[in-house]
Amino acid sequence: MAFETYECQTCGDDFQAFEDSKAATNQYCSPRCEVDGEGL
Ligand SMILES: [Zn+2]
Repeated sequence: MAFETYECQTCGDDFQAFEDSKAATNQYCSPRCEVDGEGL
């Protein structure tokens, strides 16, 4: 496993996540941004 840098879809911040993690797949830096990004 390796850390990769991603740009959050919601807030635009760069964040690091494991390449096979849920955060990497969804590209949200935090649960809060995931909620906002998904419109939940
Ligand atoms: Zn974010």
